[in-house]
Amino acid sequence: MSGGPSLEYLPEVAQIMRNPGQPLESGAGAFGAVLPELDYCRLCVRPISYGYSHCYQCNQASRSYRGAMPEVVVPLTYAGATPQSRRDVYGYKGDPPNLAAVRRLSILMYYFTVAHWGCIQRFTRMPVTSVVTVPSGRGRKPHPLEEFVTHYFSKDLLNNEATFVGQPREGRGDGIRPDDFGFTHDPKDQHVLVVEDSWVSGSNALSVAIQARRAGAMGASVLCLARYLREDDQVTKRWSATDAARKPFDPSFCPVTRGECPPPLDNE
Ligand SMILES: [Zn+2]
Ligand SMILES: [Zn+2]
Repeated sequence: MSGGPSLEYLPEVAQIMRNPGQPLESGAGAFGAVLPELDYCRLCVRPISYGYSHCYQCNQASRSYRGAMPEVVVPLTYAGATPQSRRDVYGYKGDPPNLAAVRRLSILMYYFTVAHWGCIQRFTRMPVTSVVTVPSGRGRKPHPLEEFVTHYFSKDLLNNEATFVGQPREGRGDGIRPDDFGFTHDPKDQHVLVVEDSWVSGSNALSVAIQARRAGAMGASVLCLARYLREDDQVTKRWSATDAARKPFDPSFCPVTRGECPPPLDNE
């Protein structure tokens, strides 16, 4: 961890938030053989069965959009690893917003920007040059996320806006529809960071990232406040019983690599 983020806020999030992708202990299998049972999706960090590289949705997406997928998806916490974390990702954008939830998610953003902002550039070998938020299909303006990012990213990075140009839809669309999104400025040759509040199936964040790549962006990465875990998912239930699921939030754990921070580049 570079710099020295203040640990005074840590007690407010340590027991509620979890670092996505904490290493899993191998479980004891049949006849005492030690077999790893679980893994994480390499893109969205959802717990999956061991032996797969991606979850179903990310696997389908990478087949359909080969060459246009994001460089990296960076979730700051899991929504649902604890009941309060699930409430927080809705509470922060409630009307009125739940201020305790806003504060906890702000603390996660603080730790990310102070300790791991440079890690995206180091991991992808491309500096982030543009930050956009996923627009709401329901036209809620201003979306709380838009206001949120203005506190954490410099004005020169907020140089573009993703817009929803598809037919208005009820709720969040399920499928990936890059054509539903456009940009107020040409993202050509930019490394666009797409910011989303919660990644459920990831279809909206993926749509914006894919559309940026199709429009000539050099790269697209995704930052989401929370990777949402479904309560009824059987693999998630198994994961919830692991030590990794109970480890208090650690601000030094890198959300980009899901472990150690990447080393500085030669030109840094
Ligand atoms: Zn995935
Ligand atoms: Zn890092």
